[in-house]
Amino acid sequence: MAEKDYYKILGVPENATDEQIKRAFRELAKKYHPDRNPGDKTAEEKFKEINEAYEVLSDPQKRKQYDQFRKYKEQGYNFSGFGKGQEFGKGFGGGFHFDLGDLGDLFDLFSDRRFYQERQAHAPQKGKDLLYETTIPFETAVKGGEITIGVEREEPCPTCHGSGAAPGSRTMTCPVCHGTGKVEEFQGLFGISKPCPRCMGKGIIYETPCPVCHGTGKVKKIKHIKVKIPPGIKDGSKIRIKGEGDIGIKGGERGDLYLRIRIAPHSQFERKGDDIYSSVKVDFIKAILGGEVIVDTIDGKVKLRIPPGTQPGTLLRIRGKGVKKTGGRGRGDHYVRIDVTLPKRVTPKQRKLLEEFYK
Ligand SMILES: [Zn+2]
Ligand SMILES: [Zn+2]
Repeated sequence: MAEKDYYKILGVPENATDEQIKRAFRELAKKYHPDRNPGDKTAEEKFKEINEAYEVLSDPQKRKQYDQFRKYKEQGYNFSGFGKGQEFGKGFGGGFHFDLGDLGDLFDLFSDRRFYQERQAHAPQKGKDLLYETTIPFETAVKGGEITIGVEREEPCPTCHGSGAAPGSRTMTCPVCHGTGKVEEFQGLFGISKPCPRCMGKGIIYETPCPVCHGTGKVKKIKHIKVKIPPGIKDGSKIRIKGEGDIGIKGGERGDLYLRIRIAPHSQFERKGDDIYSSVKVDFIKAILGGEVIVDTIDGKVKLRIPPGTQPGTLLRIRGKGVKKTGGRGRGDHYVRIDVTLPKRVTPKQRKLLEEFYK
């Protein structure tokens, strides 16, 4: 549709004073008021138009911008943003409005990024991402597995099924945005659309808001989510679980859940990169003469050969019993530190043998 000439609608010259505009508006509003013209659709439309024109021309800032807009039009910029009253003009508060699709050249001319962003704000929006931290057992980090975590997140309210209305409540057109779901805010040259704060962009409100969610349509709930832990995960890693964040707005998809993994310390094992470290007590005779000990690894008990003459603090390696290597094949190793133990007391016979050995 052709854009509207607000001056023509009010029947005033372009250089009309505020007083002239006000007078013209009052007269026309009286004439076309729905109370005086019951059931007359044309009068109703006219009444809306008058209000819309007055809304713009009575506000010095809006009027200035409107005049500027007309000047651009005259200079041949081809766009038809102004006066698309029908689209938003279910009420009177519309003012003027741009749709990105209509802006064409002018948009390129000013290339206002903010406008883009604001406009996207009333499309379906993805829900918020959530970040949680959880501590997993040492073994799970090494071998991988599945954990279950409780996450507090936004869910559709079960009482109103996300509508925000009390059961049986009547719906009403939002009085702030008149059902458009958008409000206009003037910044610089252009009116910028924002999601209506009253109805959260839905365009309708409910006479009685849902008592459970207070009209938001959302409730916080603890949701238990199973998470796969890949083998060899490192302390501090972040796992992204798609679509397990807060619910979206206006049918937008759920946000994502990010899980920061902490690894609990183990009573026996210590991890350094892909390798695991532990220690084992070996009596001094076995350390001197050599032998075997049983050691715990992440895969269970393993027999470890102690070579003769093993010194205290020696690290013995068990190949392939470490952590799965990141990005590669195979596993790290398990290192066993040898703690040589000495007897606290000796029998007379042992003493004699030791004295013999000392010589
Ligand atoms: Zn609204
Ligand atoms: Zn509810």
